[in-house]
Amino acid sequence: MKYRDLNPSTRTIMTPGPVEAEPRVLRAMAAPILGQFDPEFTTLMNETMEMIRELFRTKNRWAFPVDGTSRAGIEAVLASIVEPGDRVLIPIYGRFGHLLSEIAERYGAEVHNIETSWGTVFQPEAILRAIDRVKPKIVAVVHGETSTGCMQPLKEIGEACRERDILFVVDAVASIGGADVRVDEWKIDAAIGGTQKCLSVPAGMAPITFNSRVEALLLERKKIERGLVDPGSPKSAHARAIRTNYFDLSQLMDYWGPARLNHHTEATSMLYALREGLRIVLEEGLENRIDRHRLHEKALVHGIGAMGLDIYGNPACKLPVVTCIAIPEGIDGESVRAMLLNDFDIEIASSFGPLKGKIWRIGTMGYSCRKKNVLHVLAALEAVLLRHGASLQAGRAVQAALDIYHAQA
Ligand SMILES: *Cc1c(COP(=O)(O)O)cnc(C)c1O
Repeated sequence: MKYRDLNPSTRTIMTPGPVEAEPRVLRAMAAPILGQFDPEFTTLMNETMEMIRELFRTKNRWAFPVDGTSRAGIEAVLASIVEPGDRVLIPIYGRFGHLLSEIAERYGAEVHNIETSWGTVFQPEAILRAIDRVKPKIVAVVHGETSTGCMQPLKEIGEACRERDILFVVDAVASIGGADVRVDEWKIDAAIGGTQKCLSVPAGMAPITFNSRVEALLLERKKIERGLVDPGSPKSAHARAIRTNYFDLSQLMDYWGPARLNHHTEATSMLYALREGLRIVLEEGLENRIDRHRLHEKALVHGIGAMGLDIYGNPACKLPVVTCIAIPEGIDGESVRAMLLNDFDIEIASSFGPLKGKIWRIGTMGYSCRKKNVLHVLAALEAVLLRHGASLQAGRAVQAALDIYHAQA
């Protein structure tokens, strides 16, 4: 046979995703296939919905995965609520704000952006001023910006949107399952999570949730599509109809709800994977899980600092699950990454756009977020940097991280 047996290396993955999958999740994926309307399977679907509600800390009726990677979840939400000509305000502080803008634009939104420099987030007042100037129908914000390692506080934005009857959409892909995300308390109308980041499930699904305010809009658009609404309404029926089939949340509601109308074929093995991943999250407990992510972040950050390297970005708004490190002067960042991978089986991430070549990004997410991995990445990074001729405080990084771990014990 020309093609060799599949035999991927067992890497230590310290990127902002995909991260190492939970072994239990991988085992769940090997379980036998069930038919999509088999009562055994629909029970698993319902249980997954219940656990997604807990994950997002919401009482929303609608919480289910969209099949596809995280951006499929983002696209489903935006495609289903954005109507041509709608004003959508998207504050940008990194790469994924641009993704939200691009998707909203493709579905006909009049997108208004405000930008702040990468490495910081917005003061809520800056967003509130933009809201009052733009008067949008929708505000869409990234919670954890994986590209810059920053996290935008959401509560005040959510409250301001609710007071003004604006829909508030949040990309919580990077933060869900690793940092605090409170959909109901922060008055988020629709939120999107990711699997291959802090849930430690392979890429291929996007858990989402949305509330009755979003549901009302979806039902209205669905009625328009079926021609049940007065043709004299201001926008023509045709213009207001939802423009996607695969990502039409009103159809997905009929599939995940009691009607069980056939839409797509649910991704059986991914559903098993997500359900097992969620079970692991809830067994650990959301609070414990957030604390664990903070502990390992702290050990990593102390280690990096003790090595004499600088953390990129404003520490006051640091995303706890991604640590960005300034590449020292005169060091080839890509050569360091290659040696980490080839000699140590460790993967860390590079970066995009204005930060390309300037920072490395180390993820501490989900199953990858553990003591062994943090100590390994620190020891290996130090060794590789010495090999590249960097002048370092050799030997200090692992000791600094151990100080944090031993203080805990
Ligand atoms: C990873 C990520 C995405 C995109 O996820 P895919 O699964 O690659 O589609 C979107 N938003 C944020 C904040 C992310 O970190």
